[in-house]
Formats: sequence, C-alpha cells, structure tokens
Amino acid sequence: MKFSSTRGIVKDVSLEQTVFSGYALDGGIFLPNFIPKLTKENLELLRNLSYVELAEEILSYYVENDQIPKEVLKGILRKSWGNFAKDNIVEMASFDNIHIMELFHGPTLAFKDLAMRILGQMMQYFLARNEKTVTVLVGTSGDTGSSAIEAVKGLSNINIIVLLPKGKCSPLQALQMTSVNEKNVLVFEVEGTSDDLDRPIKECFGDVKFVEENSLCSMNSINWIRIMVQVVHYFYAYFKVAKNVDETVEIAVPNGAMGNITGGFIAQQMGLPINLVACTNENDITAKCIKTGDLVVMDEIIMTPAPSMDISFPYNIERIIYLLSNRDTKLVTKLMTEFESKGKTTIPSCILERMQKVFLTSTASNSNILSCIQEVHDRYNYLICPHTATAVCKHPQVAIATASPAKFPEVIESIGLRAPIMETTAKLRSAKNYARSMKLGENWLEILKQAVLELNSKKSI
Ligand SMILES: *Cc1c(COP(=O)(O)O)cnc(C)c1O
Repeated sequence: MKFSSTRGIVKDVSLEQTVFSGYALDGGIFLPNFIPKLTKENLELLRNLSYVELAEEILSYYVENDQIPKEVLKGILRKSWGNFAKDNIVEMASFDNIHIMELFHGPTLAFKDLAMRILGQMMQYFLARNEKTVTVLVGTSGDTGSSAIEAVKGLSNINIIVLLPKGKCSPLQALQMTSVNEKNVLVFEVEGTSDDLDRPIKECFGDVKFVEENSLCSMNSINWIRIMVQVVHYFYAYFKVAKNVDETVEIAVPNGAMGNITGGFIAQQMGLPINLVACTNENDITAKCIKTGDLVVMDEIIMTPAPSMDISFPYNIERIIYLLSNRDTKLVTKLMTEFESKGKTTIPSCILERMQKVFLTSTASNSNILSCIQEVHDRYNYLICPHTATAVCKHPQVAIATASPAKFPEVIESIGLRAPIMETTAKLRSAKNYARSMKLGENWLEILKQAVLELNSKKSI
C-alpha cells in the first residue's frame, strides 16, 4: 500500500514515510491510495477475534510485509499494549440501553495511548533498522503530550520535547508530564495559551536546515498511523454489539480534532455498517460545519470541563472532504487554502449532503456535561469522564469513553461525587516536578533549539 497527500502533489509515499510525517510538504495530509472493502464474509471471519488479533488483521490491510514483516507487526502490537491495565485492552460496560466502550486502560488513562504506543514502536523499528535518531516536538494542552511521552520514554532512538501551557491542563494531565524523569524526555511549562505554544514549535519546524540536521518530527493527530490504529476499535465495538453483520450500529464519539472519528469513518468506508455521531462540547466548529456547511475558525477557544476537546480547528476534516469528494485534490486545496487565509470556507452542497449522511452531530453545553455525569452515576452507579459525557448524553447505542473519570477528579467532585482513586494517580500527586519553565519572549526559539541539541548530545555519548 502506498500513501498520497490530500492536496495532490505528494504522491505514492511508503508507510515508513507516513510514520514520520505530520503534514505532507504540499500542506495536505496522508491517506492510503485506496481503502480496502471488506465483504460480509470477511466481516464474519473477524467477528470473534481478540482485540490484538483484530488489530493484526485490520492493520495488515495497510501495513504490508515488505514494510513491516507480519511477525514484527505482531511484536509491535503486543509490546505497545503490554502495559495496559486490562488483558482485553478495551472493555465494554453495558447497561440496559447503552454500551460504553472504555478505551482508557493505557498508561495515561486516555484513548490516545492505543495509537500513540503503536506509533512510538513503529518509529523505533524503522529508526533502529536505519541506525537513526529523531527528536519529537509536541505542543499540547491535554492528553497528547503525556501519551506521546509514555509512548517513547526510554526508547533508544527517540527523544521527545513537550511544551505545555502552564495552568491550562488539568492538574493530573500536567503531572503526568512534569513528573517524568528520563534522559530522552524534556518538558517545558510555558506561560501562555495552547495557541501560543504552537508558535515556537511552528517556527522551529519552519527552519528546514535545523529540522533536517536534527531529525525533528511530530506525533500529532494528523499522523496516518494514529488514524489507522483508531480504525480497530470501531470494528471491535461493532462485533460486541451487532448480532449479525447485516445490523447497523450507532456509535457516538467525543470529538475534538476529528482524529478518532476519522478512524470510524474509514472503518465505515471499509464496509463496516456503522452510523457515527460527532459529539462536541461548546467548541462546536465540527457540529456547525456538518449542519450548515460553513467551516469557520473559533475566534476564541472556550474553556470547558472536557479540555481535550477544546480545539479551534478539526484538522482531520480535510481527510473527510477528500474521501467524500472522491479524492478531488483540486477542491480540497481550494477549500483548505481559503480556510487558511480567511479563517472560513464553505463545503459545496453535494459533498455536504454526503457528509450529513455519514455523520450525525450532537453538542453538549458545560451544564449538559455535568448533568450527564450525575445522571449516569445515579442510574447505573458508574462514573464517566467529562469527555465521555458529550457522547453519552446523546443516548446512543454505543458511546466511546475516551478517558477515565479518575483523570478528572476536580470535575467529578464539583458535582458532589467522589472520584475514583487509582494507584497511578495517587502516586502522581506527590511526584517531583522535573519540567523547565519557559516564558514566551524573544529567545524561546533559541531555548527550544538548545534543548534539541542537548538531548541529541546525550544520545551520542
Ligand atoms: C484527544 C481527546 C479527544 C478528542 O479526540 P480527537 O481525535 O481529537 O477528535 C476526546 N477525549 C479525550 C479524553 C481526548 O484525549
């Protein structure tokens, strides 16, 4: 399988290249050159597999033997998910009218671990083979940074630098990053918003010579590997709920940058009979776009109890427009460059109609989120996190639980409930802070570059 950019200039790159890529050089995002279609018979054969076996089968459609030998891929899956708290990797909590799929049993208690761990292991595999080292640069306001750190800490060919906005992450989210003391990890607490963080990182990536010399790369939600791994849990949810492969299952997804739900969309394109609901918090750019066709940047990000969904733009919508327009790269380029220059664009009506067939939407206000957590607790004696509440409050057949309630005790306690205490989170409370601080100012680019050089020099000793 080869991969091409949504903007049509970068074509036919290898899986290895997509592993190390965020955006393509033409500004677009990578997708496979075709989406394999599964028959009902194919689906029947996948029905009773374990999560790891199912992942092996789904990933094999995109990861060919000459890129990563099947046995190595198996090893990568087992190693990536070996430290998950549940042997099944994901669990389904089922009540009378709803199934809640828990994707949060990884080391940072959020669903991003599922894909990020695989991405880290795939990077390590290719780097070791080529005797190379890279430095990953991540700006984060939520779960991405901790998940990326957990995915690569201790790996011999990868360094990581994470910038987080001081005081803007939830306390546990911040502690998961600042408490790490590993020689290939550096964390900066930056005084500023998550948008401010993007500036030094963008500028650093803008210095092409520096990027090449120091092999900088990212692990953001644009990365194809992350989307590919997120296809798997839709298949798993479907087989857990559907009685036969003729049935259609509705799955509601807490939505931010549309990375998770793009996995669902690709599962659907592969022939899985599912309906998808894109669930947003008050940062509802995705829901508005699907309803009206107008894609308009948020002037200001609203702080909500579900911070990992507080985004200004759902980057992965570019993939959806590309696939729904039958890979019309000219149209994608026109819409996206218009959006980039003006902060808004309009999806043509024929594509919007298709989009509305694929995605339902649902928007949860801050108070909807809190009352849903309360209601689910009162009815089922079961706690959900604020992100998960955006999906559960739609009362779907299946709701995806993207994080553990243990990660957001402040929200749970604010409505008078008791947050679960887990050994890992309890330990974090007293952890030492190993992060450095950074003030946005004239020399932040220098500080960042210096940090890259510092990590590199440790590697070469
Ligand atoms: C990242 C994240 C989301 C949003 O996922 P996207 O792929 O960005 O749409 C939702 N919930 C939690 C807990 C997250 O960490």
